Amino acid sequence: MTSSQTFEADVLIEGERIDALGSFPEVEADRIVEAAGKLVLPGGVDPHTHLDAPLKGTITADDFYSGTVAAAIGGTTMIIDFPVQEKGQDPRISHADWYARAEEKAVVDWSLHQVITDLPDEFFPALDELIRDGSPSFKMFMAYPGARMVDDATIFKAMRRTAENGGFVLMHCENGPVIDLLEKEAIAAGNVDPVYNSITRPPVTEAEATSRAISLAELAGVPVYVVHLSAAEALDAVGRARDRGLPVYAETCPHYVLLTDEMLSEPDFGGSKYVMCPPLRTPAHQERLWKGLRDDELQVVSTDHTPFKFEGQKEMGRGNFPKIPNGVPGIEWRTGLMHHFGVRGGRISLNRFVELISTAPAKLFGCYPRKGEIAPGSDADLVVFDPEKEVVLSARTQATLSDYNPYEGWELRGAVETVLLRGTVIVEGGAFVGTRGSGRFVRRGESIALA
Ligand SMILES: [Zn+2]
Repeated sequence: MTSSQTFEADVLIEGERIDALGSFPEVEADRIVEAAGKLVLPGGVDPHTHLDAPLKGTITADDFYSGTVAAAIGGTTMIIDFPVQEKGQDPRISHADWYARAEEKAVVDWSLHQVITDLPDEFFPALDELIRDGSPSFKMFMAYPGARMVDDATIFKAMRRTAENGGFVLMHCENGPVIDLLEKEAIAAGNVDPVYNSITRPPVTEAEATSRAISLAELAGVPVYVVHLSAAEALDAVGRARDRGLPVYAETCPHYVLLTDEMLSEPDFGGSKYVMCPPLRTPAHQERLWKGLRDDELQVVSTDHTPFKFEGQKEMGRGNFPKIPNGVPGIEWRTGLMHHFGVRGGRISLNRFVELISTAPAKLFGCYPRKGEIAPGSDADLVVFDPEKEVVLSARTQATLSDYNPYEGWELRGAVETVLLRGTVIVEGGAFVGTRGSGRFVRRGESIALA
C-alpha cells in the first residue's frame, strides 16, 4: 500500500533497504514476516513532535526514549522534533543539545526543525550551516509574545534568507499580542477555567496570522508550511493562496478533526487535559478540516505530540488557565485514528491516508524516497497493519508516559501489528522489541514541492 498504488507483493529486504518487490519463491530468507491479508504501509513520518521539551517551567512527560517507543508502537518510524533557540544564543547550541538527547535515546529515526526566536544578522551563517548539515527547516512563532514570538520583520528576514539558502519555513500562526490581551482581560474578570483556552483564541486570531504568514512568504518568494491548523477560516486562507498557485502547505492533527472544544468543560479541572494552542474548535471546523484533507488543501497529518501528566503538570494552571502546560499526547494513535475515522469513516481513501501520514511529510521535509515509500532503494521502514483488529484506547495500556488518554475508551478497528525500522523488527504483536538509541539522525535535503 503506497500513496499512489495498492498491490499484492512480497517485499524483499537486503540489509537496511528494500531490495525488490514481487514474488520470490527461490529466495531463502533469513527471516519472513507474515503479512497475508494485512496492509503493508511505509513507516509513518510524524513531522511535529515535542519530546524532552521544556515548557512553562516543566518538561514533557515523554523523553526521546518513551516518546519514540510510543511512536514505533503507533507505526511511526521517523519523527521530526523542535530544538528551541534561547534568545541571544547561537541556534546551533540548542540544536546540538536536542541532537545529543535524541541520539542517545531515540528508537525510531529522527530529525530536527530548529526554532528561531531571535535572528540578528550574525546568526545567518548558523542557519546556513544547519541546512548544510541536514536540518533545512526552521519554525517560528507568531504567538507567545515575550517568550517565543518573533515579529514580522524577523519572520520576513528568515524567509528571505531561506530564499537564498534553500531552507524551508514552518509557522505557528496565531496573533500572539491580541490573544495575550484577551487572556489578561479574562483573568482580570475572574474567567480562569480551562474553557477560556478556546474563548481567548478565537478562529479569526488564527486566520489573521495564517494570512499574514502567507503574505510574508509571498513577499519573500518562498514556500511556507502552516503547522497544526485548526480553524476553518485559517484553512480558507490556505486554500485561497493555493488557488493562486502559491507554494503554501498546511498540516492538521488527529485531535483537531476528532475532539471538540466541549472537552474543555470536563469537570474537576479535567478540561485542562485538552488545553492546547491553537485550541480545539467546534464540529463545523472539523468538517471543514476533513474536506481540506480530502481536497489537498491540507497535505499532512502530524500529531504535535506534547504530552503532560494531569497530576502535577496540567494542574499547575488551576485557577489560572494560561499557566496550564498546553498540548496533548498523540504520537501513538495517529495511524489507528486516521485509519478508523478517515478510511473506515469514508472520508479519505487508503492511499490518501498513506500520503498524509508518510509520503507527503517525507517529500516536504526532504527525505523522500528514502522515507515515505515502498520501493527498491527506500529504507525498509514498514508497518504491517491489521485492518480488522479491534482495540480500545486507554491510559492503562498506552506507552506514552502521559497519565491520561484524550481518546480514553474509544474503540478502533485496525491496529499496528509489526513495525520494521531499516529492516529490523522493532514492534512485534503490537509490543516494542527494539533497543534504546537505535534510531538514527536523518540528514534531510531540499523540500520536494507537492503537485
Ligand atoms: Zn508543536
